[in-house]
Amino acid sequence: MIALQDVHKSFGPNAVLRGVSLEVPKGQSLVVIGGSGSGKSVLLKCILGLEAPDAGRILYEGAPLDARRRGPFLSRFGMLFQGGALFDSLPVWENICFRLLRGPGRLSRSAARERAVDKLARVGLGPDVAERHPAELSGGMQKRVALARAIAADPEVIFFDEPTTGLDPIMAGVINDLIRGIVTDMGATAITITHDMASVRAIADEVAMLHAGKIRWRGPVAAMDAAEDPYLRQFVTGAA
Ligand code: ATP
Ligand code: MG
Repeated sequence: MIALQDVHKSFGPNAVLRGVSLEVPKGQSLVVIGGSGSGKSVLLKCILGLEAPDAGRILYEGAPLDARRRGPFLSRFGMLFQGGALFDSLPVWENICFRLLRGPGRLSRSAARERAVDKLARVGLGPDVAERHPAELSGGMQKRVALARAIAADPEVIFFDEPTTGLDPIMAGVINDLIRGIVTDMGATAITITHDMASVRAIADEVAMLHAGKIRWRGPVAAMDAAEDPYLRQFVTGAA
C-alpha cells in the first residue's frame, strides 16, 4: 500500500499540491487524471523523491518514504517517464537495464542483456531490437522499450506518466492493453497519470481526479460515468 497524507508542495507562490491524501492498496491500478498543470507529474515526483514535499507524509507499506529511507524502496519501483527519456547513446538493452547495470548487486552485462531480451518479448519486440539505438525506432517502439525498462527489475509498484502521449489511437490502444496485461500478470500496484480517457478505461481499477491541489473525486472506474461532480463530468465527456 502507498499512502499519501496531506502532502503539500509549492514552487514559490505557486501552491501546486495543497493537501493531497491518497491510498493505493497493493495490487490496485489507480489512474490519476487532471488538467494540464494540475500537478500530476509533481505528485509522482514527490512519491519518487525527485521533489521533496513541503509538508505531509508518504508511506510505502507503512514505512515513511523520506529522503533517508527512500533508497532501498526505489529498487522496488519502476517508472515510465513522460516522454520516454531513453538515452540515444546507448543500445536498447542497456537502456532497459540501465539501473540494473549499476550499484551494488549489479547484473553482469551478459545477464542484463538476457533480461532485456526477455522484457522486450513481454512488450512484443524481438531480440534484434536489443542492439539497436532508440533514435532508430518508431515512437510506438520507443514506448514499448520504455515500458520494458519500467518492468526490468520486476517492480512491486509501477508508475506511468502519460504512457500514450504522442501515439496514434491504435498504438495507444496497444500500449494501454500491454500495460493492463503486465500489471495484472505481475500483480503489481500501478499509478498511471493520463489525459487520455481511453487509457483510463483500459488501465484503471480506480480513478482519482486532481484539481486545485487536492483529490477532488475518487472512485471505481465504473462509477466515473455516473458521477455527479460537474468538473469530473466535463473532463470525462470533454476529453473522451
Ligand atoms: P501536464 O498534464 O501538462 O503534464 P501536470 O499536471 O503533470 O501537467 P505538473 O508538471 O505537475 O503538471 O506541474 C504543475 C505545476 O507545477 C505547473 O504550474 C508547473 O509549472 C509547476 N512546476 C512543476 N515543476 C516545477 C519546478 N521544478 N519548478 C517550478 N515549478 C514547477
Ligand atoms: Mg505531467
